[in-house]
Amino acid sequence: MRKPQTNQKTTKIMTNGGRSMDTVDLIASGYEWTCPKCETLNEEIEVTEKVSCRNCRRIFKVQDYSHAIE
Ligand SMILES: [Zn+2]
Repeated sequence: MRKPQTNQKTTKIMTNGGRSMDTVDLIASGYEWTCPKCETLNEEIEVTEKVSCRNCRRIFKVQDYSHAIE
């Protein structure tokens, strides 16, 4: 018969998670654009004049924007 050692460990993890729980912001809408240089799909949480590609770090001027869901 093995001793239930996992019970104590599980309790400890749950306690720590409740005390130091991280928070997040829920974003209802976002804007996606594809980098013309490396074709990486980027996401922006708001409309800005300039965007930077998360892959190649190039900066582009936003010409227009549209809502994906109407
Ligand atoms: Zn890129």
